Amino acid sequence: MHAFTVDVEDWYQSCIDYDAPITARVLRNTGTILEVLDGCSVRGTFFVQGRVAETFPGMVAELVAAGHEVQSHGYSHRPLDRMAPAALRDELARAKATVEDAAGAEVTAFRAQDFSVLAGNLWALEALAEAGFTTDSSIFPMRVSRYGISGWPLEPHRLILGVGSMLEVPVAVCGLGRLRIPVAGGGYFRLLPERMLERAIRAIGADGRPAVIYCHPYEFAPGELAGHPGLPWKLRVTQEMGRRAFEGRMTALLRRLRFGRLDEVLAAWGVR
Ligand SMILES: [Zn+2]
Repeated sequence: MHAFTVDVEDWYQSCIDYDAPITARVLRNTGTILEVLDGCSVRGTFFVQGRVAETFPGMVAELVAAGHEVQSHGYSHRPLDRMAPAALRDELARAKATVEDAAGAEVTAFRAQDFSVLAGNLWALEALAEAGFTTDSSIFPMRVSRYGISGWPLEPHRLILGVGSMLEVPVAVCGLGRLRIPVAGGGYFRLLPERMLERAIRAIGADGRPAVIYCHPYEFAPGELAGHPGLPWKLRVTQEMGRRAFEGRMTALLRRLRFGRLDEVLAAWGVR
């Protein structure tokens, strides 16, 4: 079984203007994901941004009621690697409290906004542990243009920290000898042929580890960017690329492979 995860955020606020309001687009798009998952009888893990939980607590409660796992995707969506220790502590405390208030359940797992735990701010893991998180999925296990750590282990592993430890769970990257192919989500996931994605995910399973894939509510909303006139054309093109086919290919993968919640997947693979 592999892990289906969603970073729940509202595109314009999370990608363009951190001070923008959270809009009902995130509600509508998360609703689309829930319909897709229902149709495939799959439950997943939703890393919810704190500002989204604050704005739409009812949506978070619905996710819990429907049997999905709810965890944290930070509070503001500002990158962690640009935060000083005090700002990071504040961000993490708000991230945890807002989602816990909305979910009515403890939040113990974290995924950083834009995979912003890098080689230069690994100390953020200590702050996460101090804030009460025990599982982290914030480190992209290869270096790509904006994030990732070169040569990072591909499999889930436990890191011993100054205060306790952290179960680090990287998202899916397929290893072919020294070559690493990211197949977890984002642009690669939207553009690689569906059969290649399926083969890569099966290969990761055959390697003895679960594939952790991620997506965003807005990827299920082709044409949404038309509601944001004035965006630079290059940004519009790269962001829209692959969105039209996204729901169909995700549905096909959910039907052809076994996916579930991250906590259940880790338990099934005996990861502690
Ligand atoms: Zn995000």
